[in-house]
Amino acid sequence: METNNNQLHENPYLLLTPGPLTTSKTVKEAMLQDWCTWDDDYNVNIVQQIRSRLVALATKNTEEYTSVLLQGSGTYGVESVIGSAVNEKSRLLILSNGAYGQRMIQIANVLKIDYVEYTVPETEVPDIRVIKQILDTKQNITHIAVVHCETTTGILNPVKEITSLAKDYKVITIVDAMSSFGGTTMDIHDWNIDFLISSANKCIQGVPGFSFVIARRKQMEACKGNARSLSLDLYDQWNAMESGNGKWRYTSPTHVVRAFLQAIIELEIEGGIAVREARYKTNQSTLVQKMEQLGFKPLLSKSVQSHIITSFFSPDSENYSFNQFYHSLKQENFIIYPGKISKSDTFRIGNIGEVYPQDIEKLVETIAKIQNW
Ligand SMILES: *Cc1c(COP(=O)(O)O)cnc(C)c1O
Repeated sequence: METNNNQLHENPYLLLTPGPLTTSKTVKEAMLQDWCTWDDDYNVNIVQQIRSRLVALATKNTEEYTSVLLQGSGTYGVESVIGSAVNEKSRLLILSNGAYGQRMIQIANVLKIDYVEYTVPETEVPDIRVIKQILDTKQNITHIAVVHCETTTGILNPVKEITSLAKDYKVITIVDAMSSFGGTTMDIHDWNIDFLISSANKCIQGVPGFSFVIARRKQMEACKGNARSLSLDLYDQWNAMESGNGKWRYTSPTHVVRAFLQAIIELEIEGGIAVREARYKTNQSTLVQKMEQLGFKPLLSKSVQSHIITSFFSPDSENYSFNQFYHSLKQENFIIYPGKISKSDTFRIGNIGEVYPQDIEKLVETIAKIQNW
């Protein structure tokens, strides 16, 4: 993508991208104070509060679960869980239908983890019967890893069915719920999720800088001594935070963490996850309905399309170039996303963040105005 380096665009544009995404002014303002990392004002009143609120957002069975925050983007969280939960005696089944499933495979390769992969095309979800067959025929699978919303396309994987099946086989479940957690109703206890990974800059609507893991306490404790990395040792990070009353092992992104607490408070003020999910769903359905009126077609079938991000086929016209489309929209203060899939020419529009149906309507009116194909 072309960028103009000598001129910074200072107009506050709306990010229609799935993280970093548009945050509220009050979330940004929460970063205007510096914090001391060993003072209770930070550890107890911010970090510990976030940890318990995250667990409460994830399940009603709060005693069985715990949470930990980890420096770095979402991938650091995924790598930390895979590298700490799966030990030398374990065998991991990785399900993939997009770039983030592929990234888990990449992590397993780098960490030399014994794994089996089940990959399906980017526009399809894994077949439960095939997963059952793999669990029946491949020996000794101990863990299964799956992405909830594959942000590559916006497809929603049938996580609840997969993790319920895993329970029958006593297989530990790892869910990359990066782009769904906070914007999708689920109870990780009811869904039999052992490790859920997400990050600050997705549906909770914070700014980027750390990931977090919500895990069954028993499974978190079982990670002790497994890690293949010092800084990505999930157990050690958790143990330091748990026993140190909110202490991070190494320098924490204090401003980002403070902003995240504000973002959680704003999620609660909005009415909680179900209300936020309803807003995202209205954003998504408004977008598709109006875009279809302009002749655009979504990549995915409705039955598997999430409310998080939508992929559209690029217009089939010689006059269309994504670059030009992107820059014309940017002039009007909207930022969209290129497509990420291999087989079709697409672009993506995110539905999450501090974005409302009227913003989506304005976006599509702008697309109608600028389109020259
Ligand atoms: C955003 C995202 C990630 C993490 O990506 P980072 O660039 O490391 O933050 C992982 N999985 C999914 C599904 C995501 O949407």
